[in-house]
Amino acid sequence: MSKDIGHFIGGKRVAGQSGRFGEVFNPTTGEAAGRVAFASKAEMDAAVANSLEAFPAWAATSPVQRARVMFRYKELIEQNMDALARMISDEHGKVLSDAKGSVQRGLEVVEFACGIPHFMKGDFSEGVSRGIDMYSLRQPLGVVAGITPFNFPAMVPMWMYAVAIACGNTFILKPSEKDPSCPMRLAELMLEAGAPAGVLNCVNGDKEAVDAILDDPRIQAVSFVGSTPIARHIYATAAARGKRVQAMGGAKNHMIVMPDADLDQAVDALMGAGYGSAGERCMAVSVAVPVGDKTAAALVERLTPRVRALKVGPSTAPESEMGPLVTRQHLDKVRGYVEIGVKEGAELVVDGRDLSLQGYESGYFMGGCLFDRVTPGMRIYAEEIFGPVLSVVRAKNFEEALRLPSDHEFGNGVAVFTRDGDTAREFASRVQVGMVGVNVPIPVPLAFHSFGGWKNSAYGDTNQYGTEGVKFYTKIKTVTSRWPTGLRSGAEFAMPILK
Ligand code: NAD
Repeated sequence: MSKDIGHFIGGKRVAGQSGRFGEVFNPTTGEAAGRVAFASKAEMDAAVANSLEAFPAWAATSPVQRARVMFRYKELIEQNMDALARMISDEHGKVLSDAKGSVQRGLEVVEFACGIPHFMKGDFSEGVSRGIDMYSLRQPLGVVAGITPFNFPAMVPMWMYAVAIACGNTFILKPSEKDPSCPMRLAELMLEAGAPAGVLNCVNGDKEAVDAILDDPRIQAVSFVGSTPIARHIYATAAARGKRVQAMGGAKNHMIVMPDADLDQAVDALMGAGYGSAGERCMAVSVAVPVGDKTAAALVERLTPRVRALKVGPSTAPESEMGPLVTRQHLDKVRGYVEIGVKEGAELVVDGRDLSLQGYESGYFMGGCLFDRVTPGMRIYAEEIFGPVLSVVRAKNFEEALRLPSDHEFGNGVAVFTRDGDTAREFASRVQVGMVGVNVPIPVPLAFHSFGGWKNSAYGDTNQYGTEGVKFYTKIKTVTSRWPTGLRSGAEFAMPILK
């Protein structure tokens, strides 16, 4: 059934006015599922005006009341979990269990946000000088915006707006144009949970909508998650206009397999982290680094039949381990990278390019691909593929394995598989990557920690969610106060000092 998706502004769904639309597909069937409106600058202006109007009352709502909205929101998401996961599966193509897991990981940030009264507590210093007290408090910024990628249409928006809204800001979400249905429903549920109209607006669109966000002086801060070139553009442009920015980009996550690792555990981890969500995760493992030829030979031998046996199928079929890729263009791009790898001389051990599913011939499916003997000079190593393609880069020893992720331009996630505590500790301490797993392949920090890579995987100095998120979405005010106490020192012309 074809549908038109507009925007959610001022507490209601509104149709797009620009006359510009993007097509939304069901990747399992390859059929057009509907159209999403692309907001014009004027529509974004109106949404910002609405968010600005909603801000003073929301900022003045006590943190406890804001937390109660978050509690109700958590319950509503739980009640709607199946429907939300289904929307993600239908437009993104990830299998239902994975879609549910991603909503759950976003929900955990909502749970964190339920504790906002605690996180917004200030600091108080009594008697910093005679009769003088000093306190610092955190206040919301105003209207803030989030621009999010296709691969987590629920989780990544929740990373941002759950914390921002709990802090007292009003939020404009510009979700990916590839899978907008779930974010629209999430915005609607925020209203149902009791957040006043305008606290969470969802404005769909493309570059024009994003440029309108970057240009608007009424928007105080921008959070972005997506590919590195766009992250860099958002960071540079928004910062030049005096906004706060956190901009997360692409990744190339390595998993080091030491000779003493539990190989079965390592292979299971590589299967899930390499091919889960068809490799369309910023924390997907796309490079396996076995240390030593013996480890490499054993790893490739065990991986090969597992990759061949991957159950690729419709995203809503319970037996599917991997669904289709998000769009036809993305499928072509990933297949193109496999072609490049072959030309570069990597050994294509499993070639999933030509997989076709009976009854779903127009779906965007491919099978898992496995490359061996990939080297750092190759494009398939240097660039983010974002598909079900795992590259094995053989390292001679620990130092060489450590250098690979450390020297790579991306520094999002990394993992080491070993039974040796010294090795794990040394690796975690020295590796130049922001999130590290020890025998854990996808070390996405829980909501009470925070998410962020290093190098070209993230620009800006605060991570997403957790107390870092609270810092990002609030500004500190410090008050120095003296009450009449009978102490009089007369007019002082020198710089005040502590007495
Ligand atoms: P993308 O950069 O193409 O799009 C992200 C957002 O930016 C979308 O909302 C899109 O509409 C907007 N956008 C696209 N082109 C734009 C332009 N020229 N000007 C302004 N805005 C523009 O990313 P994607 O393909 O949706 O998502 C996949 C990427 O996101 C991968 O690189 C992946 O690694 C990355 N990602 C990173 C993280 C992280 O936390 N580091 C998490 C998830 C995804």
